[in-house]
Amino acid sequence: MRKRTYRINRIKLFAMLALLLVLLLMLILLVRAVLKPEDEPGAVARVTEEPIYTPAPTLIDLYAYFDWTETTDNIRVYDHRADKLVTMSLEEYIVGVVAAEMPAYYDFEALKAQAVASRTYTLYSMAHGGCHTNPDADVCTNSKCCQAFSTHERMQNTWGNDYANNYNRVAQAVMGTAGEVLTYKGKLCDALYHACSGGQTEDSENVYANALPYLRGVESPYEDPMRQEDVELGEDALVELIAAKYPESGVNADNLRSSIEIVSTYASGRVETLRLGKTKITGKQARSLFGLRSAMFTITWSENGAVFHTKGYGHGVGLSQNGANGMAKHGFTYEEILHYYYTNVQITVYGADGLPDITHETPDPSESALSLNPEG
Ligand SMILES: [Zn+2]
Repeated sequence: MRKRTYRINRIKLFAMLALLLVLLLMLILLVRAVLKPEDEPGAVARVTEEPIYTPAPTLIDLYAYFDWTETTDNIRVYDHRADKLVTMSLEEYIVGVVAAEMPAYYDFEALKAQAVASRTYTLYSMAHGGCHTNPDADVCTNSKCCQAFSTHERMQNTWGNDYANNYNRVAQAVMGTAGEVLTYKGKLCDALYHACSGGQTEDSENVYANALPYLRGVESPYEDPMRQEDVELGEDALVELIAAKYPESGVNADNLRSSIEIVSTYASGRVETLRLGKTKITGKQARSLFGLRSAMFTITWSENGAVFHTKGYGHGVGLSQNGANGMAKHGFTYEEILHYYYTNVQITVYGADGLPDITHETPDPSESALSLNPEG
């Protein structure tokens, strides 16, 4: 009997303990349910599922709103100023590129066109061997090799009090076109661009090795201003420059004025061939030799030496940034701007059907001769 009573008491004890546990659990659940939803850790994750592109969020909103790390594949960026390799999302990288490559005050549609061009340019470069000077990196931040790039610190230093506004503009242009790239017959384009064409963009083969069907010269009527610049070089400086680079030309102080002659120009007005004494060089070589903004120039002589009258800024191939801004101000959308400067291209979302596997595409050696420097 005693033994049995003892057993019943033990069962009762267990039952009471179990009941207490259940009550405790219910109490915890009740307390959690009463708490505000934003205190829940799950609410933070839900925020990123909101629409990516919204009107004018504040800077702090943007950071909370858009989880850059989850947008696209990460890419390896070599920061040439800090001398280190950084990994970031493609879209985050494009924000830094647009911030560095185009004035943030440019029209919003122009910024969007730039975002698509820069994204395409990046993925095209990656598919063709990545950064040429840093084998471990997909891209670098040196504009002489890949595209220019601004870190947040650099944006703050450059923009000062306008940092929040400018960052928002650029980030929204990138987010508003997230994933969009230019393709031609299903393949990524080499989306070259430049600061200002001077009124006419250039056929790719007149500046680089290959005639690409989507890089055809077009009139660029809305550029304002045309970025005209006169560069005067004294006779001594000219002789020194020419003799150092082209000693076989035979140019000296006595024959200088009769030795420099524009032999031919392209339909765009850019110099095709320049004669330096017994040597002929291309307009591109002349631009580099004399430090000119563009190969669209004429020459007159002053008392001191030669005056190069240049129009435009950059190589002149593909999108003109200044022209894009002009078009945007005249009401053209970023799609219209891109279709205007890149002939017969499609605007496709990266990763959509029909696009090649970007990171594993076999490089085409015949196309890699194109310069990767937008300012060329
Ligand atoms: Zn590079």
